[in-house]
Amino acid sequence: MTVIERPSLDFLTRPKRLFIGGEWVDGVDTFQTTDPATGEVLAEIPVAGPDQVDQAVEAATHAFENGWRDMAPTERQRLIWGLGDLLDEHKDEFAVLEVLDNGKPLWEAELVDIALSIEILRYYAGWATKIHGDLLPNSIPGFVSIRKREPIGVVAAIAPWNFPLLEIIYKLGPALAAGCTVVGKPATWTPLTTLRFAELVNEAGIPPGVINIVTGPGPEVGGALVSHPGIDKVAFTGQTSTGQEILRQAIPSLKRVSLELGGKSPNVVFADAHREAAMAGAFGGAFFNQGQACVAGSRLFVEDSIADDFAEELTEKAKGVRLGQGLNPDSQMGPLVSASHRETVRGFVTVAGDEGADIVAGGRYATVEGLESGYFLEPTVIDRVTNDMTVAQEEIFGPVVSILRFSDWDELISLANDVSYGLASGVWTSDVNKALKFADAVRAGTVWINTYGMFDVAVPFGGQKMSGFGGRELGEEALDAYLQAKSIWIDTEAVIPTQGQGISR
Ligand code: NDP
Repeated sequence: MTVIERPSLDFLTRPKRLFIGGEWVDGVDTFQTTDPATGEVLAEIPVAGPDQVDQAVEAATHAFENGWRDMAPTERQRLIWGLGDLLDEHKDEFAVLEVLDNGKPLWEAELVDIALSIEILRYYAGWATKIHGDLLPNSIPGFVSIRKREPIGVVAAIAPWNFPLLEIIYKLGPALAAGCTVVGKPATWTPLTTLRFAELVNEAGIPPGVINIVTGPGPEVGGALVSHPGIDKVAFTGQTSTGQEILRQAIPSLKRVSLELGGKSPNVVFADAHREAAMAGAFGGAFFNQGQACVAGSRLFVEDSIADDFAEELTEKAKGVRLGQGLNPDSQMGPLVSASHRETVRGFVTVAGDEGADIVAGGRYATVEGLESGYFLEPTVIDRVTNDMTVAQEEIFGPVVSILRFSDWDELISLANDVSYGLASGVWTSDVNKALKFADAVRAGTVWINTYGMFDVAVPFGGQKMSGFGGRELGEEALDAYLQAKSIWIDTEAVIPTQGQGISR
């Protein structure tokens, strides 16, 4: 396999700092971020100490109270749109940085991570001028009541490593449109694109303090944000267990919290499905982004009558995957994000074998010529999985798909829903009634019918059950998580109350 030279990006050689109040600020320590395809160090990244977290929150509070909240919506729209344009201008550099830091194939970074980030900024730029309250029809003569929608305040946006920049932008777009200011924290394994994005903020003319970026370990830097009295809302994406911890930490100050969490999505293939499309959907649903996707169709339910044949073809496809560096156009899949994550994923495969499932493809560390230090894992297919097995219940977050067989409707629905998560699902059938019946019965925030993994800026996304809490991302609905209602009463006849307050004028 050809190994591609790492491009020399100017950004990689520049010193990295925290972005606070429009200024570059040193941290108290540093950590290293590495290229998972080679294990090589890409850059030294600052660790924010408690003082820098304080400064970032203060800068965001100042910017909220002195300009951004009250700025003309047309101006906010122009600035957010300009940020999207700048990202567009530098999209190739961003895509390469995302590949280097995360390991994903370049086409994925281009078409998903960066393209969607640009669209989100433009979509929510448009919303800045369309957020409105209403005049409510109260039944009290002479009184007018108005519902205003106000920004919640300062938002902590905490992101995972699987879609590093995109997960920050998911939160930034609606937050900025609503009039909130933000302190963002990217994941420790993948901070590069978020720090590069911070460089565009001043260039776009966004006022100092509206967007601040701090980096460093989750429990310390993320934890300091979550418990900070100056943060009004936490928007988090990551593991369910971290989300639970964040919710606990947010209780003393009763912060608003929205959580996008893990998944264990059922992807269901009926015997009457279009075979080729279902195979592509089963494969892509399981292995897209090296399986490191919250929506991964990691539980593949196949109707009994076609299951042997389907499993065999999927197994062959998985064995034929070309692993390699994400920048190499020949690579179908890249490495996992880190050595420790690869170890965790492989541990699940071992447990599956111990519990009696058949590992029919992959499951081992893979060696790619010239990239012997990369964190590659063979795409893995596990057959004869039953719903009580660990691999059917726990999120693996790697290139591992479990095949479960079903023969009747009630069995399918009960198995598909018998999991603590409820993020996404897929169904493949030529019977539209069956597909819609499944969409009604499955407990998941998204259902894909004869497709898998579709996203659009206008379509809300989020989880039911233990996959989500406190709102949705994308679409108009995401704005709700950054706005709060205020009711205003006006006595149009200006009569002085004679009997105290309220309606007893
Ligand atoms: P983690 O929960 O480990 O981390 C997510 C972010 O939270 C990181 O920035 C992390 O920092 C930070 N963090 C960790 N501990 C704390 C804490 N105590 N307080 C505040 N912040 C903290 O998730 P991963 O990064 O491993 O991401 C993978 C998970 O994300 C999967 O479960 C996946 O399903 C989920 N996900 C969900 C999506 C959805 O929309 N539902 C979309 C994408 C991913 P650090 O990196 O320094 O540890």
